Amino acid sequence: MYGTSTNFAINKLNATTRFLQLPQPENKVQVTYVWIDGTGQELRAKSRTLDFVPTKVEDLPVWNYDGSSTYQSQGENSDVFLHPVAIFNDPFRLMPNKLVMCETYKHDRTPTESNYRKVAEEVMIRAADQKPWFGIEQEYSLLDTDGIPFGWPKEGLPSPQGPYYCGVGSDKAYGRPIVEAHYRACLYAGINISGENAEVMPSQWEFQVGPCKGISIGDHLWMARFLLHRVAEEFGILVTFDPKPVPGNWNGAGAHCNFSTEAMRKDNDGILEIEKAISKLSKKHKRHIMVYDTNEGMDNKRRLTGKHETSSLDNFSSGVANRGASIRIPRHCVDERKGYLEDRRPASNCDPYRVAEVMVRTVCLDE
Ligand code: ADP
Ligand code: MN
Ligand code: MN
Ligand code: MN
Ligand code: MN
Repeated sequence: MYGTSTNFAINKLNATTRFLQLPQPENKVQVTYVWIDGTGQELRAKSRTLDFVPTKVEDLPVWNYDGSSTYQSQGENSDVFLHPVAIFNDPFRLMPNKLVMCETYKHDRTPTESNYRKVAEEVMIRAADQKPWFGIEQEYSLLDTDGIPFGWPKEGLPSPQGPYYCGVGSDKAYGRPIVEAHYRACLYAGINISGENAEVMPSQWEFQVGPCKGISIGDHLWMARFLLHRVAEEFGILVTFDPKPVPGNWNGAGAHCNFSTEAMRKDNDGILEIEKAISKLSKKHKRHIMVYDTNEGMDNKRRLTGKHETSSLDNFSSGVANRGASIRIPRHCVDERKGYLEDRRPASNCDPYRVAEVMVRTVCLDE
């Protein structure tokens, strides 16, 4: 099952340490192109050898793949193009090897249905003078290969929520080696990861990306998700971004979006701009909910119940330090009279390109 037998694990460890230590020929660089497939949630990747060290996306050739195998095209006209948009160091094959986040385009050079980056970037360019920044708190859950949360009893449930959030000890922190490996891998890659913590449900964790300028929030968060899947693969463990992986009295998983403009970050009057933004957001609740998961609000419906530190799916609310509101103004931002707002509605499986786009349309462009 997914190569979890002890023999396989030992051989894998030997093989990866031995063969990855083989000298790499000069002027042979392994570059992995990463993209979002037709589900809008899952990532795909493939590698090629280049005979130079790329240092920026402009150095990288456009590539293609078989879109009929990724729910992105029909077999008789299957080529989909990969356009590199962000370049990172490869923490598995090490420098100078690279990971590249890509946009996907159809044969007629229009974006594929799951390419939400292109339009989001156009929106960011129109709002560039307001200098939008984003920080996303990505929550996720670790699962055993049988789909049961990692470390949970195979029958019955662990003891109730309470001790796990930011907890320490083998009975509280389930799967920390994966978190550690992922955090360092992200730093090595050059991802703007700003922290991690254990979450309220056992085997649920969070990492934060940001603050990132404009469209780069999506590039960095998607690549951080790729690295998480890839690290967990080394452990034979699964990652789910489902917003409510266990029904009942267990916290769901979100992707709180922290947002600011230059005006919100300004001394003294920044807080007034934050309040203005919240007023605009209050009038567009439905529109935001529609793009805050991958299923037009239906996935988030299981999570946004008004319980377990969430707001209700149907109603907009806001408050200072209120973790049961749609939008929270962090206490320290009120005290400092500037900073950012936290939109707590996005689900863990949201597309950060779409979240960033709608935020800027509503708050910056009044669209
Ligand atoms: P919480 O208290 O909700 O758990 P976290 O510490 O997990 O908050 O995350 C806060 C996030 O806010 C981080 O991702 C950080 O990068 C982001 N952030 C900080 N300052 C700003 C800002 N001015 N604009 C946008 N995001 C910001
Ligand atoms: Mn082939
Ligand atoms: Mn957090
Ligand atoms: Mn959290
Ligand atoms: Mn938060």
